[in-house]
Amino acid sequence: MNLTPNLEAVEVRIQAACGRAGRNRDTVQLLAVTKGQPPEMVQAAADAGLTLFGENRVQEAKAKIGRCPARLRWHMIGHLQSNKCRDAVHFFEMIQSVDSLGLAREIDAWANKAAKTMPILLEVNVVGEASKFGFSPEQLLADLAAVNALRRIEIHGLMTIAPWTTEPEKVRPVFRRLRELKGQCEQVLGAGLPHLSMGMSGDFQPAIEEGATLIRVGTAIFGPRPRAKPAA
Ligand SMILES: *Cc1c(COP(=O)(O)O)cnc(C)c1O
Repeated sequence: MNLTPNLEAVEVRIQAACGRAGRNRDTVQLLAVTKGQPPEMVQAAADAGLTLFGENRVQEAKAKIGRCPARLRWHMIGHLQSNKCRDAVHFFEMIQSVDSLGLAREIDAWANKAAKTMPILLEVNVVGEASKFGFSPEQLLADLAAVNALRRIEIHGLMTIAPWTTEPEKVRPVFRRLRELKGQCEQVLGAGLPHLSMGMSGDFQPAIEEGATLIRVGTAIFGPRPRAKPAA
């Protein structure tokens, strides 16, 4: 499978958005979302030059990562259950989907046992969709200091999944709000946060224009995902 044509098309869109925003291309990292894709697809993406990958389920990632080139870097981007934190700390370089103080405490405890420090992003449910995980903006600001006090956790920024839409311009205010929230968090912490993880296949252009530093792209790189297997 040659993914270079798809990647080139994604790259054109990234550069156009960077151009419109007056941003350097180097300020945006492309994370390839491989949920539902076999190791052969990961290999094809690695062959096309990608090094940063994302998975949304620990079980699937655990089975896959060992069958992929060892030099690749993996981020957890899906809801994490507390009984999977131990594996998540082991397999991932960053957990982007920390959606509660309780989960942050659990990750901190396992990172401590593993004698490592875990980089995380705090996931925000910007518009309060019932179907999505994430801190509400109010809860984020209320819990921020407590998360920051955990010694084995390093907050690197914020992540959001925008509401599904066929018109990416409609979700621009969501991305703008996440950027504003990052600014508020930086004030509370008295320190800068490097990352805003926002934008997927359908909406990464407005996300980049509003400041995304990490975009999470699956379908536009790999095509439609194979039908999910029934949950084990
Ligand atoms: C699946 C997924 C993506 C990628 O979605 P595409 O529309 O296929 O690009 C991005 N982020 C998260 C959290 C996901 O679960």
